[in-house]
Amino acid sequence: MRYNGNLLCPCNSGKKYKKCCKRVHDGLVDVKNALELMVSRYSAYAVGRCEYIIQTTHKSNEQFMHNVNVWFDEIEEFSSNTSFKQLIILDYSEKEQEAFVTFQAKLHQNGNDFSLTEQSRFIKEDEKWYYQQAEIFEEI
Ligand SMILES: [Zn+2]
Repeated sequence: MRYNGNLLCPCNSGKKYKKCCKRVHDGLVDVKNALELMVSRYSAYAVGRCEYIIQTTHKSNEQFMHNVNVWFDEIEEFSSNTSFKQLIILDYSEKEQEAFVTFQAKLHQNGNDFSLTEQSRFIKEDEKWYYQQAEIFEEI
């Protein structure tokens, strides 16, 4: 799946994708904090940049224990079967090496609207933020 860079960015910034999260996905700019990383990962799911999801996940995440190729296919399938309608940041806290972002993602899949609420844990390693795992996960 190729997402048109002239379309609005899925992160709801109001900017075109090519002027927003695509620059992060392409490695042209770095995220400044864990919150920006979370937003860029949401967009990556929305546009199907599976490699970005994997690159920004910390090696201690349980997905890395299994087969990365299978994981890639799972991300791709989720991404292509799901419409990403809205991202709402509910809470954000950051310390030096650790951050938490609580968010709600409004999604659409197989004719149904649903939402995911998650508190994600991020950790910083070698000056880079990584998604580590979901602490709380709820599907409504
Ligand atoms: Zn964006």
